[in-house]
Amino acid sequence: MPLSHDMVCSLAAAADLVNSAPETGGPDWLTDVAALHAYLERHQVSGLGSVTEADLAEVRALRATFQEVFAAPDAGAAVTLLNVLLERTRIAARLTEHDGWPLHVHYFAPGASAAEHLAADCGVALAHLLVENEWERLRTCAAPDCDKVFVDESRNRSRVYCDSRTCGNRMHVAAYRARRRA
Ligand SMILES: [Zn+2]
Ligand SMILES: [Zn+2]
Repeated sequence: MPLSHDMVCSLAAAADLVNSAPETGGPDWLTDVAALHAYLERHQVSGLGSVTEADLAEVRALRATFQEVFAAPDAGAAVTLLNVLLERTRIAARLTEHDGWPLHVHYFAPGASAAEHLAADCGVALAHLLVENEWERLRTCAAPDCDKVFVDESRNRSRVYCDSRTCGNRMHVAAYRARRRA
């Protein structure tokens, strides 16, 4: 994958946020401040103070935007959606080295809220995916009862399930049973 480590992390954070929505086939798990805090910790979204109900509302609104981007029918539609997001997001590029990661660029502005931080870093990561012509790496799970999204980092862009241990395994077992019945 031509994307740097921090890009991959930002894309994973965007996918995880989309997958918190009930439309992807599970319960909505981003329903309170504690869940938002856990999500931000999981994705090492740094430099934030404590999060509030207002942050939760903003991040849930951003989630709806990312849902639209992931569901965009083609790259052109994604470009339009991302430009709307990037235009309204404060962005301040800054070179940084932290927590043992190599030198990379952060895009969130000083004093950014949780939603602004995610909009900047995830928005730019999604923009780079388009620039690198890697848009097709944004996928929706191929299992019929699962609409989780994921970023396919495999060399040959061959990944089809959100999780090989759950959906992948389930589908392999179903295919095996279907063959046995045939
Ligand atoms: Zn960083
Ligand atoms: Zn799945």
